[in-house]
Amino acid sequence: MKYLIDTTQKLIHRSSFVRDSCAFHTTSLESRESTHSELYVQKLIDEEQYKKCERCYSTIYKRD
Ligand SMILES: [Zn+2]
Repeated sequence: MKYLIDTTQKLIHRSSFVRDSCAFHTTSLESRESTHSELYVQKLIDEEQYKKCERCYSTIYKRD
């Protein structure tokens, strides 16, 4: 699973489920990060107050 990180809005998107309503495409390039590390994502949530994007995460979980 690849994650897309919006560092301005502090949102974590899941790349397979990201959709227009996530508005990730409107995020400036400097505010984007991507990672495959679930640990890194969890650290952002625990330590940096990042949130999981409700739109991508509401989709039924599928394994890559
Ligand atoms: Zn999203």
